[in-house]
Amino acid sequence: MAKTTSWEIVMGLEVHVELATKTKIFCSCTTEFGGAPNTHCCPVCTGMPGVLPSLNKAVVEYATKAGLALNCEITRYNKFDRKNYFYPDLPKAYQISQLYLPICRNGGVEIEAEGGGKKIIGIHEIHMEEDAGKLVHDPWTDSTMVDYNRCGVPLIEIVSEPDFRSANEVIRYLEKLKAILQFIGVSDCKMQEGSLRADINLSVRPVGSDKFGTRTEMKNMNSFKAIARAINGESKRQIEVLEEGGEVKQETRRWDDNKDASFAMRSKEDAQDYKYFPEPDLIPIEISEETIEQTRNSLPELPEAKRQRYVSELGLSEYDAAQLTTSKYLVALFEQNLEAGYPAKELANWIMGEVMRMLSDSGKEPEDMTFDYSYLGSLIGMVQKNEITRNTAKKVFKAVFEEGCDPVRYVEEHNLKTVTDTGAVKAAIEEVVAANQKSVDEYRSGKEKALQYLIGQSMRALRGKADPQTVTAILKEILG
Ligand SMILES: [Zn+2]
Repeated sequence: MAKTTSWEIVMGLEVHVELATKTKIFCSCTTEFGGAPNTHCCPVCTGMPGVLPSLNKAVVEYATKAGLALNCEITRYNKFDRKNYFYPDLPKAYQISQLYLPICRNGGVEIEAEGGGKKIIGIHEIHMEEDAGKLVHDPWTDSTMVDYNRCGVPLIEIVSEPDFRSANEVIRYLEKLKAILQFIGVSDCKMQEGSLRADINLSVRPVGSDKFGTRTEMKNMNSFKAIARAINGESKRQIEVLEEGGEVKQETRRWDDNKDASFAMRSKEDAQDYKYFPEPDLIPIEISEETIEQTRNSLPELPEAKRQRYVSELGLSEYDAAQLTTSKYLVALFEQNLEAGYPAKELANWIMGEVMRMLSDSGKEPEDMTFDYSYLGSLIGMVQKNEITRNTAKKVFKAVFEEGCDPVRYVEEHNLKTVTDTGAVKAAIEEVVAANQKSVDEYRSGKEKALQYLIGQSMRALRGKADPQTVTAILKEILG
């Protein structure tokens, strides 16, 4: 029996981002990641009776910045609401959030669409809220403990429109979001520490239909790879259910990346289940037009503008410019050395080549680069001055990347400088020629391959420290 329906995936994202303020949203406890359990807490963030929240002004500033960078309208009069639910990581039994008047609305981010071209992912709203604590499951004692350090860490929740049609589009949007938020300095967006996590609302429908199917939600996804697998896995599951004549249930599902499958957790709550009401302990927030304009003017150059400038002013390729501007840290590495006078093209080649390769080999993110960024420039400088060969430079960069070595010192200590004494180079090549009469004869009878062999032998004799062009020239001269 042939199945003829082809399906379209429809997704919307809710992205939670921890803001990089020094202190929590309603008390002065630190927001620092980690720490011994329950040491970053006070009566306010653990919800003791009789305490009152007082709003951290920086949270409003950061949320406004994020909203402007994501092309949102800022709600000049906005306020907090209580979202009531009982869960052990939420000691107050309610979360202070925004439902009725969120701080930002009607924004959008441009991404590359699945079939080519650009598309705008709409941002429905951004609201401010407090994070909950963390449950720690201990398999040894078969018990669950709770750590309230994260309670009250400020979050913004960025709610998109259901504009995604593929896992690729979701990843491109998240990459873009991450880059923008890092650039404007409102979050470190470290996904492995949970600073940026996404809830994915997913449904499927026959291609051509304009009605939405029933959606499921997968919560707290914090790795791009797992997100791509979860989207593929869950969409397949829903299509199978529908093709077998079943119905998709509206529910929250947990993606288990090890089992490569999602599991039902609970039936999905709607807004009314949370019994929202206006937060009585906090006054509404008013933001003046003047503050909004000041904030807008304080924004740094955003990744999209940088990308265009790298192409038009620095002559980088579209691809290189797009890749470089995915990360604040790659941009810093690039621009710091550009300012020091190193050529843009050469820097871009190094970053797109060796830096990216080392990052991918070590499974690291650009923010994990610990070496002094000026070392990349020093290394390029040594190649430009013919002090080391390109091949040597690649080897030295490995030590720079992995151990943070100063390349100039490393080259000195390991005696890696190019042999510039042509007398010494010539002597070494003459020895190679004398020891390889067969190859010399072959070359003279017209075999180009033999020359490559002799160059290789000469480079080996010189321990790679001679400039290959010089070696080739001298060799040809000797061979006549
Ligand atoms: Zn506190």
